[in-house]
Amino acid sequence: MSTEQYDAVIVGAGFGGMGSAIQLNRLGYDRIAILDREDDLGGTWHVNRYPGLTVDVPSTTYSYRFEPNPYWSRLYAPGSELKTYAEHVADKYDLRRYMRFNTVVDGARWDDDAQEWLVSLSDGQTLHTQFLILATGYLCQPKKPDIPGIESFAGTVLHAQEWDHSYSLAGKRTAIIGTGSTGVQLIPKLAEDAAELTVYQRTPIWVMPKLDFGFGPRAQRLFAKVPATQRMLRVSSDLFMDIMVTLAMWRFRQFRPVNRIAAAIGRLHRFAAIRDRELRRKLTPSYDFGCKRPTLSNVYYRTFNKPHVHLETAGIDRIEADGIVGADGTKRVIDTLVLATGFDVWESNLPAIEVIGREGRDLGKWWRENRFQAYEGMTVPLFPNMLSQASPYAWVGMSWFDTVEYQMRHMERLFGEMQRTGARTFEVTEEANARFLDRMLTLLDDSVFLLGNCANSRSYWFNSSGEAPLFRPTTVRQAVKEQQHFPLSDYALA
Ligand code: NAP
Repeated sequence: MSTEQYDAVIVGAGFGGMGSAIQLNRLGYDRIAILDREDDLGGTWHVNRYPGLTVDVPSTTYSYRFEPNPYWSRLYAPGSELKTYAEHVADKYDLRRYMRFNTVVDGARWDDDAQEWLVSLSDGQTLHTQFLILATGYLCQPKKPDIPGIESFAGTVLHAQEWDHSYSLAGKRTAIIGTGSTGVQLIPKLAEDAAELTVYQRTPIWVMPKLDFGFGPRAQRLFAKVPATQRMLRVSSDLFMDIMVTLAMWRFRQFRPVNRIAAAIGRLHRFAAIRDRELRRKLTPSYDFGCKRPTLSNVYYRTFNKPHVHLETAGIDRIEADGIVGADGTKRVIDTLVLATGFDVWESNLPAIEVIGREGRDLGKWWRENRFQAYEGMTVPLFPNMLSQASPYAWVGMSWFDTVEYQMRHMERLFGEMQRTGARTFEVTEEANARFLDRMLTLLDDSVFLLGNCANSRSYWFNSSGEAPLFRPTTVRQAVKEQQHFPLSDYALA
């Protein structure tokens, strides 16, 4: 059996994995493998290609600080520009030489004798590596709904994450299940082509107005020539996002009126778009703003005014070969079924692969039997030399880049210390891990998750125990700052 030796194996070629590889390079590591089960880089921005896809965080914030892109066409750039940006980053930082696509990782096991990780690939190969970095993301396992009869549907099924652009919806009676951020972007686009469109909504989402504008060639040239101008815009979008998330989510106890104002804006947005009171009622969330990921759109609500667009809220009883039967007995005959049903965050993810640490500790099992926890959202006791990017309490702010960049800073301090002391392994101490978890839980006491009315939200931010351990309930600024000061004694280096 062939074996290969690496400094670091990174699982996932999205923005998280690429950020880690860039940081490792800066720290002097070069024997790196970035593995991805897909056939190209970009993670979610490679997989998601559905019509209407745009980023719903300002692009000035949704990008690496160290690699600004002066060429975004709009404040909220289309998905294809994110994919192009990912390619640009990979080329500029020479990351493609590390990447291996169509490579499925089955699992990883710490070898205590050799003091290294053994990474098993589905083709039978084993890679040996000093460091293991899990960069598989939170939203990487698409969820196919478990609706009775779904397999018997004889028409065409389109999944948001496997979009077939050669398929035309023209003249097709179409139904879509799912009204999360993906559904909200897809529905107006589907309505442009489909003969009939029925939207099956289980839980309404908070949809806010989108203050979007284009960047013409002059603005782009200015951003390229005088980067400070784009940085100024970034400072505003960063600050706005950070303040909103902090007040509406983490400081709910002190700033409840912020959520009420946001809800009022959402209500006005619906009112301005829809005259039909009953339709407005059906689209109104019955949970607090902040419990579930809100989204932005100026066209979503208006789409429901079109005569060929129908909203079904009674629930789905079953799917038959030629259509969908609602819980109220109404049947809609359809040709095409679109699934925008989101991702499995809790069952087949966290972690996305089997990871076995010291003393045979199974990461997924341990998280489920104890609490979901990770020191600074990255490291776990008994998992030496492992960093997990989409971990419990890792997600800070709304832009994934904020998380990736604070994690890169954590790596800089931790790996820097290892290099100074000549250590080959790091492992977070039980005490530091417990202290961090305790602090996160205390901070959550003030959050909308604990104090708000979230019961009807069906938010994937909560797990089956009713806990919400994905987010780090601090500002982005705090998360970044803390990476320069965390006690190095929180790690055992050897
Ligand atoms: P999601 O928010 O989890 O939404 C899934 C939708 O499918 C929900 O409306 C859900 O209803 C519905 N659903 C799932 N199973 C169902 C079933 N069996 N029967 C009926 N309805 C069912 O997933 P998403 O829309 O893909 O978004 C996931 C995340 O991706 C977002 O929160 C965001 O972080 C990210 N995202 C970002 C962008 C962007 O920046 N451009 C775009 C899209 C997504 P319930 O709510 O009742 O469960």
